[in-house]
Amino acid sequence: MAHQNHAAPGSAATILVVEDEPVIAAAVAQRLTAEGWQAHVVHDGLAAVEAAARIRPAAVVLDIMLPGIDGIEVCRRIQADHPVPVLMLTARDDETDMLIGLGVGADDYMTKPFSQRELVARLRALLRRVDRATQLAETPAEGDSIVAGDLIIDKAQRRVTRGGTEIHLTPTEFELLVMLATVPKMVLTREKLLAEVWDWADASGTRTVDSHVKALRHKLGADLVRTVHGVGYAFEPPPGPGPGPGAP
Ligand code: CA
Repeated sequence: MAHQNHAAPGSAATILVVEDEPVIAAAVAQRLTAEGWQAHVVHDGLAAVEAAARIRPAAVVLDIMLPGIDGIEVCRRIQADHPVPVLMLTARDDETDMLIGLGVGADDYMTKPFSQRELVARLRALLRRVDRATQLAETPAEGDSIVAGDLIIDKAQRRVTRGGTEIHLTPTEFELLVMLATVPKMVLTREKLLAEVWDWADASGTRTVDSHVKALRHKLGADLVRTVHGVGYAFEPPPGPGPGPGAP
């Protein structure tokens, strides 16, 4: 497999693949290597947590059903240690909604069976998003803050507070929030959000948008994002800062 590795050792981004089914794991690893990444494969949850801490992968492809600790717990543990973009593989579409409800913190979801082409496209989009986030963080002059009522979005530091309480968002959730909050009350279609936030043109991924809106509501409050049925979503500026829990 090494013949496809054009990059110097250490310079190709490493993708951690967590999948207990050997055939799928091998196929994914082979494809990732062919695309110029380094693939590091592990087959169970504990090995995944250990590998994520040790090799600091650029991204993780994480199957939900694993022996030992499952993908949900793996995602939590590796995110707690060191934030890394996670693309989670689920068995059913409705499982994605359940995971979002639990606040698992994956950046994207794909339902099995999936195409390798789509996996690669989603991984590339995920890594582009992280690059963009890093660039923004390194050039604070480019970022500024959005203040809407008791919500403050610090684009330079990529921090969000509501009522004085800091709320941790994944890079994807952060970008989605900024996209919506930049144009308050304006309805953005799911296709538009998918294209801008995920760099993903195929409308089959609009369910991903719905799931991440749910995550934002779960973390920030349901009042912030309004559903416009059959169209998309709009940001609703919250009321001004009152005497929040942090007030003297
Ligand atoms: Ca599995």
